[in-house]
Amino acid sequence: MPLIIISGLPTSGKTTRAKQLETYLRSRIEQGSSSNNETTSATPSSAPKYRIHVISDDSLSISRSVYDLSSVPAHARSANASEKDARAALYGAVKRVLSDRDIVILDGLNYIKGWRYQLHCEAKAVRTPSVVLQIGCEVERARGVNEERLRRREKEESSEQDAPEGYEVGNWENLVFRYEEPNPMTRWDSPLFALVWDDDEERTKQVFDSLWDAIAGEGRKVVKPNQATVQRGRDASGDYLYVLDRETQDIVKTVLEAQGEDGGGEVRIARSSSGGDDDALVVQLPGEKVGFPRLQRLRRAFIGLTRGGIGLEGVGNLGASRIRESFVGYLNDAFESEG
Ligand code: ADP
Ligand code: MG
Repeated sequence: MPLIIISGLPTSGKTTRAKQLETYLRSRIEQGSSSNNETTSATPSSAPKYRIHVISDDSLSISRSVYDLSSVPAHARSANASEKDARAALYGAVKRVLSDRDIVILDGLNYIKGWRYQLHCEAKAVRTPSVVLQIGCEVERARGVNEERLRRREKEESSEQDAPEGYEVGNWENLVFRYEEPNPMTRWDSPLFALVWDDDEERTKQVFDSLWDAIAGEGRKVVKPNQATVQRGRDASGDYLYVLDRETQDIVKTVLEAQGEDGGGEVRIARSSSGGDDDALVVQLPGEKVGFPRLQRLRRAFIGLTRGGIGLEGVGNLGASRIRESFVGYLNDAFESEG
């Protein structure tokens, strides 16, 4: 089942909340399976409906230093030595387990909106919801937690072997600067739930209750798979941005030319700009005519999300035809949700 993307500043209390959420979900699932008297249910009541997985930098042994732009790990490049490698590892780990029966809590910074978009598409592809749980914490307080962690390490109080690493000061500050706040107006950051540092047990439970409702309860929406999951990577040729621009422009032009006066209907988009109509992609238009400004806005937003730098080269490369497929998926989603 669903993907829960935790997002927040470094050392802001994300793991603390992730553990609370895990405990909460385990008990919800247990309740569900013990009070399960439904005779219609094919699964025996002893088998829980969902499995839970927590995936984090720590669970994959990803060091905080991968986020450090100033440190180039020239020596001993291990499998997860850079932020890109780390993301590919996290992505792979999520993809491996995510299904309609598996709840994945992704405990991490998840600070890049394009990355969250990617994860949202991944969940959509397996027809399962994704939600974002933002951990709010004042910058001062989070900074204090980090300083404390660094001090402890210096004093080598390694009695706590498993104590989490701190971030080098410059690395920490830079991550705060780079943090891209979740935006509940976007599909990929919604539904958005939030907890702040001082939220007590009662408030936390309320938030978890509504989160549960969104992923497993009555509030759960039917998830239709996207026409295309974005799998982005930069072309080795380096002209990825050029191709991205060209292909999306071509699609905008095709839609503008092909749509009727009254809106609605479908526009067929060839899988390559020189290609024919065989196996074409389909843009499902909304009930009104779509103007150039709107298409241009959507095109810019899509480019903003896919312009690269999140490094999933290991997962798949985004060639021209993948871009076209992804952009058509993006437009369909947008028209469906904007109406
Ligand atoms: P992150 O995963 O974001 O790095 P952690 O969850 O590891 O942050 O929390 C950092 C520190 O702050 C831990 O020592 C934790 O006990 C403490 N902490 C986190 N959240 C809270 C909270 N809501 N109230 C009090 N202490 C907290
Ligand atoms: Mg943590």
